Amino acid sequence: MTEKCLQVALDVPLDRLFSYGAGEFNPQIGERVLVPFGPRRLSGIVLATGADPGEYAGKLRSILACPADMPPLPEQVLALCRFVASYYHHPLGAVLAAAVPVVFRGTASFSPPDPEYLYQAGDLQALLSAIGSRAPARLKVAELLAVPVTAGQLRSANPAAMRWVRDWQAAGFVQTTTAEADSAGETLLLGPQPPLNAEQQAAVAAIAAATGFAPFLLYGITGSGKTEVYLQAIASQLAAGRQVLVLVPEINLTPQLEQRFRQRFPAVLLASLHSGLNDRQRALAWLDATQGRAKIVLGTRLSVFTPLPQLGLIVVDEEHDPSYKQQDGVRYSARDVAVYRARQSRVPVVLGSATPSLETWQNAQAKRYTLLPLTRRAVKDATLPAIRLLPVKKIRAAEGLHPLAREAVERALQAGRQALVFINRRGYAPVLACTECGWMASCRHCAARLVLHLGESRLRCHHCGFEEAVTPACPDCGNHDLQPVGHGTQRLEDIVAKQFPGARVLRIDRDSTRRKGELDAALKQVHDGDADILIGTQMLAKGHDFPRLSCVVILNADTGLYSMDFRAEERLFALLTQVAGRAGRHGQGGEVLIQTLFEDHPFYAQLLDGDYARLAQRLLAERRQLRLPPFTQWAILRAEAPQLPRVQAFLDAARLAFPHLRGLVVHEPVAASMTRRAGHERMQLLLVADTRAVLHQAMDEALPRIAALPDSQIRWSLDVDPLEV
Ligand code: ADP
Ligand code: ZN
Ligand code: ZN
Repeated sequence: MTEKCLQVALDVPLDRLFSYGAGEFNPQIGERVLVPFGPRRLSGIVLATGADPGEYAGKLRSILACPADMPPLPEQVLALCRFVASYYHHPLGAVLAAAVPVVFRGTASFSPPDPEYLYQAGDLQALLSAIGSRAPARLKVAELLAVPVTAGQLRSANPAAMRWVRDWQAAGFVQTTTAEADSAGETLLLGPQPPLNAEQQAAVAAIAAATGFAPFLLYGITGSGKTEVYLQAIASQLAAGRQVLVLVPEINLTPQLEQRFRQRFPAVLLASLHSGLNDRQRALAWLDATQGRAKIVLGTRLSVFTPLPQLGLIVVDEEHDPSYKQQDGVRYSARDVAVYRARQSRVPVVLGSATPSLETWQNAQAKRYTLLPLTRRAVKDATLPAIRLLPVKKIRAAEGLHPLAREAVERALQAGRQALVFINRRGYAPVLACTECGWMASCRHCAARLVLHLGESRLRCHHCGFEEAVTPACPDCGNHDLQPVGHGTQRLEDIVAKQFPGARVLRIDRDSTRRKGELDAALKQVHDGDADILIGTQMLAKGHDFPRLSCVVILNADTGLYSMDFRAEERLFALLTQVAGRAGRHGQGGEVLIQTLFEDHPFYAQLLDGDYARLAQRLLAERRQLRLPPFTQWAILRAEAPQLPRVQAFLDAARLAFPHLRGLVVHEPVAASMTRRAGHERMQLLLVADTRAVLHQAMDEALPRIAALPDSQIRWSLDVDPLEV
């Protein structure tokens, strides 16, 4: 009989499958196998068995092993990965590799710890006599099996115990039960659920009533009880025995949210999948979800690919958050993939936000998504904070805070509450400049300024990681008077500490929370009331619920208002809404002060009204007129190399590879917004199409030609539905 032929997807840059013989193995579709690839061994995923070997008949190499450590990926996930590969024009093997936990991408096999099996001898006497008196060590272990014991208990009696126990198990002397099996009949324990207000009730009812694929936009101001709606929608899924996938944007959101979920569903296994886990922990949580034990998966971007045999509902919290878009490798949007997955699995999907992305808003306007509005704060008496603008044209740098902002902070402290001063820039100052000649410290490898970190006396590039000691004198003119320009969190911390000498000032940014546990400790300090004034970046903007916080001051947030990026206003609105939303969540009124250079911009009228709908309407009208997304479909081909002419030549050639299609515009290559990074010159080419179909047709035709262009120095990538332009 001839050997079975397998089609295997491998994580190599070639966009095709590879044929192997099955050898002595019998892998299933979706299973991982180890294969020879040139001189290397690689892990791959079987996508077809019994395939026609075609031209390779008789010449096939055989697979080397079937580790059987990963349950085969179900068709549901394979199909999702196929969609992602074709939509984002990325090799399927690479997509599949990204979709499984790291431990299943390599050639080492992964051995999860024994589940809490309980071992027990069915007939102890029979076992003892089978062992016989010549093996006293084994007899001792066997005697333990008179009652149910764990592998750990057996091993501590004798390190070799589990080897023997497995033999006895195979011979039928020993049986296992799991601790889990014991608790299987347990009813779902719910923590206390607050009664919902009318809008929340309507939202939960609409989600519960959905049959099959049904996309919802849960549009609720901050603190309106969106999370409560998720929790109660989830409860009804759990009661029906189904699993729920909840996507969250970032790791720092997860601890508080996770705690809330665990308190509500104490008897349910929740798998939390985020970047704070090590590879092993991640794999175990993934296995819990894949094998149906974990009923709730709470995770960041990558969790959208987790196999979930009983999937009943998908939730995407803060759906507008740009961190859902992967910025390297497979550049997918987890939000969009989640919606596709819901469609494919015929389940409802809830996208939640106070400031939806305009793409999603437009889908709701066009009635493709059902709009579920929450218009009031959920906690009784909690109102939205009053927002005031403070024009800062006349404020000197050293002052930092506007006098009225200072008064507001003072008021909060007097009332025994907390204040947050928000600035979206870490470090001491974004620029170090010479007072004589105007020289500014710049990165050697990027088109970017170096950020001054005064504490460590270092200049750092926030783009490539380059750093150097602060120079004592200007390298151009020798002047010793170098001055920091502008504000970062560290400088603000200094200023605020001087202005409020009695207050406990706590800075929370990526620098202050680099080490494990530091962020949790800082957040705890805030919750316990052991800090009075918080200085923070957008790490503090999202998701946190600080009951004592009543005053928020926002500095230098609006520099992007007049930028080239057409998403700047949408982003700024989301950011400011989120930061402002931290204030006064638990009654007693909140105060938000925004220091701005552009107080007359129409943006602020809408922000002050809290009128996202009006802003969205204005921006969507602009985009329709200017033929910007979501009214046109975009993709960007990016390229970089050490020498600019090569990049230019590559993109010129790439441009010619695109077919002339009606409804497609292939723009001239232009410099990327950051023209040089980490020593590479960067350019890009923009594709604009009337429809997705045209865009994808163009890419399908052009990409094989572009891949064949001969310049090995060029690094290039394709970004479909780009967020950064
Ligand atoms: P969001 O997710 O929209 O920011 P949350 O669900 O976190 O809002 O709710 C904000 C606060 O209101 C939380 O403290 C929450 O416990 C509380 N809350 C939500 N819904 C209700 C309700 N129906 N009754 C009382 N309190 C509620
Ligand atoms: Zn100088
Ligand atoms: Zn740099």
